[in-house]
Amino acid sequence: MPELIDQFPAAHCIELRSSFRKKLLKWFDLNQRDLPWRRNKSRYRIWVSEIMLQQTQVKTVIDYYRRFIRRFPNVKVLAKADVDDVLKQWEGLGYYRRARQMHAAAQEIMKSHQGRFPTDYDAAIQLPGIGRYTAGAILSIADDVRLPILEGNTIRLYARLLLLQSDPRSSINQTWLWKFAETLLPRNRPGDFNQALMELGALVCTPNAPDCNHCPVKSYCPTFVRGRQDEIPVRGKKTSYQDTTEAVVLVSRNQKFLVRKCLPGERWAGLWDFPRYCLDDSADKKLQPCRILQRQLQQDYGLETTIVSLDHRIRHAVTRFRITLDCYQTRSVRGRLKQPRRESCWVSPAELRDLPMSVTGRKIANRLIR
Ligand code: SF4
Repeated sequence: MPELIDQFPAAHCIELRSSFRKKLLKWFDLNQRDLPWRRNKSRYRIWVSEIMLQQTQVKTVIDYYRRFIRRFPNVKVLAKADVDDVLKQWEGLGYYRRARQMHAAAQEIMKSHQGRFPTDYDAAIQLPGIGRYTAGAILSIADDVRLPILEGNTIRLYARLLLLQSDPRSSINQTWLWKFAETLLPRNRPGDFNQALMELGALVCTPNAPDCNHCPVKSYCPTFVRGRQDEIPVRGKKTSYQDTTEAVVLVSRNQKFLVRKCLPGERWAGLWDFPRYCLDDSADKKLQPCRILQRQLQQDYGLETTIVSLDHRIRHAVTRFRITLDCYQTRSVRGRLKQPRRESCWVSPAELRDLPMSVTGRKIANRLIR
């Protein structure tokens, strides 16, 4: 770290640090975007926005945030809501664990913090789904508590300000970058300062072609001075994707469709889905997919089905998996639906509208609702 800090003299010169902060805050005052969560900075609202913004772009979050706040205006309403309702509001935003953890955290806040998001960092970080970054962002933005932040945009910005020549996401570099964030943070307006850093990363110090000529802190930036913006931050190992084939079956009887609730620990836990199977895992690879699916439906739901050929195909990606999803339909269904360990039932196309579903589940359902 000492050699890194040498790249950024403002780290050990009070005057330089103070002028860096002033320039950044001035730029933020003039250039910050008008975002709905910047209009009312209650801890609850900042919490909702921060959780939604994890792994998700601002433009996607705006409408979800507005709908969520309309439906759940405070912690009490969120805590009392059915988790299905929370997931329904989250539908399409992905990473559904975030919604389940928010719901659990709201219940914990009602139980242990008199319905108010805690102002104390040590208490906040105990809540489900709240880590060091989220606690720092919520408390600094809502209450100007002097806590540093480190997330995607600031990691990139700091890496460039420090001319960091190794992967900033390595654990040793993360430790240094948190320390660097602490060093930079002012006593006055720490919340605005944190937002200014993230805003600069989002609007100016972008991953590709950063707009250095309009950067308020370019005179402090060794990466700019040396023209190395394309090399820094150094990228870590590329994600290696795995191709996989899955099948979903539209099992229909009397104009109703079989759906199941995904179990805790499964992908999309708590959301509803059509029976879905991974065809790569099948023990008997010689069997045709239709035969494999018939066997699975008999085993899991007690239903004897005849499956007709492929209805349509969807290609999508989830985490490191590139999935080819084949959608099959049944021609005939016999037998009584057994209630296996998974919750399942028959629903009409109209009822499908109200169930929280994954993105591909919703795509398939929408074809049936039309
Ligand atoms: S000068 Fe360029 S690379 Fe450096 S912080 Fe500003 S935008 Fe980023």
